[in-house]
Amino acid sequence: MNESAENAARMKWERAKAIYLSTLQSEDEKSQVERYLSMIVSVEQKGSAFVVITSSAFSAEFLKANYSDRLKKCLELVMPDEKVELEFKFREIPLPSIMSHIVEPRKSQKISTFVSTMPLNDEYTFDEFVRGPSNSFALAAAQAVVANPGKGGYNPLFIHGGTGLGKTHLMQAIGNEIKRKDPSLAVCYLTAEEYLNEYVNYMKDSNVPGFRAKYRSVDVLLLDDVQFFQKGKQIQEEFFNTFNALKDKRKQIVMTSDVAPKNLPAIEERLISRFEGGMLQEIETPSYETRLAILRKKLEGLEVNVPDYALEFIADRIKSHVRAMEGALGKVSVYLSAYPGSTLSNEILEHLLGDFIQKEQMMRKLNIEEVKVAVAKKYSITMEQMMSKERTQSVVTPRQLAMYIARKFTTKSLPEIAKMFDKTHATIIHGVRNIERHLDVEPELKASLAEILAEFGYKLSDKMD
Ligand code: ADP
Ligand code: MG
Repeated sequence: MNESAENAARMKWERAKAIYLSTLQSEDEKSQVERYLSMIVSVEQKGSAFVVITSSAFSAEFLKANYSDRLKKCLELVMPDEKVELEFKFREIPLPSIMSHIVEPRKSQKISTFVSTMPLNDEYTFDEFVRGPSNSFALAAAQAVVANPGKGGYNPLFIHGGTGLGKTHLMQAIGNEIKRKDPSLAVCYLTAEEYLNEYVNYMKDSNVPGFRAKYRSVDVLLLDDVQFFQKGKQIQEEFFNTFNALKDKRKQIVMTSDVAPKNLPAIEERLISRFEGGMLQEIETPSYETRLAILRKKLEGLEVNVPDYALEFIADRIKSHVRAMEGALGKVSVYLSAYPGSTLSNEILEHLLGDFIQKEQMMRKLNIEEVKVAVAKKYSITMEQMMSKERTQSVVTPRQLAMYIARKFTTKSLPEIAKMFDKTHATIIHGVRNIERHLDVEPELKASLAEILAEFGYKLSDKMD
């Protein structure tokens, strides 16, 4: 495949992927699918057949079994006139030699032979990343890491924020830029989930030392979605040691997570304090202006001409996810390439983007049952405890926090809320007051509240009085 055919295939694939991701309901599902999709090394198009190459046999099987049909449908949306076929294949990525650097004779510049465990997407660059008030600190920190990998005060850099707000993009931009500036550096990107999978595989082969040697030989470790480590104690132990080894050698570590380290309840204290030991930055939901600027940026990569008012329409209606905005833009551009020259009225846009808009509205409708589940999960208590009369502080706080959210962020009446918590009015009022008092003096409580709200597309400032 020549380069332009490759680009065209990738573009179609990316568009189909964006459409698919934006159709997923829950954030958990979205980030899970994203993790699996990011195991894709490359996509090749042979006629109407798309061949998806992955970095492990497991992910090829998994993607095929779970996502093949839906991805195919999205590809058909992108290529309405073709009969699409979709295949998944696994191609081995060579393991790095322990000697991870070779000397290239002519230029006498060292080029790292380390192959990143998961490929870096070369479109995720700083140039393609739109700066705005919601991400400017995280961006500045990322650039500081690039200026001085491992050596500045930004080690580790920990970026957190809701799904689809640009964490992976920014992290990979760090990797791409470091490699461009200094090809001798071994840059490794992977998700925490893939790190765990690989650990398990090396363990099966009785080769844990090989696993350690691999990850301790890198200059820059980019570990995405570390909230996943909450699933296992052993992997935390393993990562703790690798983290220390890299840090001691002044190698750069960058991590992302959907929440701040202190809100990762199932992660060991000593790891949390390591995570917090460098620079912590949050990416927030972008403002209207930033959303519009991001859409303009994404449009540069597409061949269709989407009019400004359509971009404004999207930026106005889809607020919570950059990824959903991309999906919407994809859909509008597919429409425009199918009906070139057609005018897009508000009505057509509403119709075309109905799914996205509906999802956005759903996201912004707080369901108290879901709030209870989200709060219980964040505080690692059971739903029984949430609904119980147990007076332990570790149960009272989340219970009252859920009451507070129900009271301050929904239009439900006091009797309705009391019923949903199986408590009296007085208990609800007392709980809400108690949280109010603590919010002013406990930044951690406030941060947890903000994070729970963010899962539903809400902000602290959405509070009703
Ligand atoms: P996360 O890892 O936080 O879930 P991603 O990094 O995968 O989010 O971003 C989702 C999509 O949104 C990507 O296609 C990314 O390029 C895009 N995106 C997010 N923020 C920005 C931004 N500030 N500028 C340009 N694109 C962005
Ligand atoms: Mg991500």
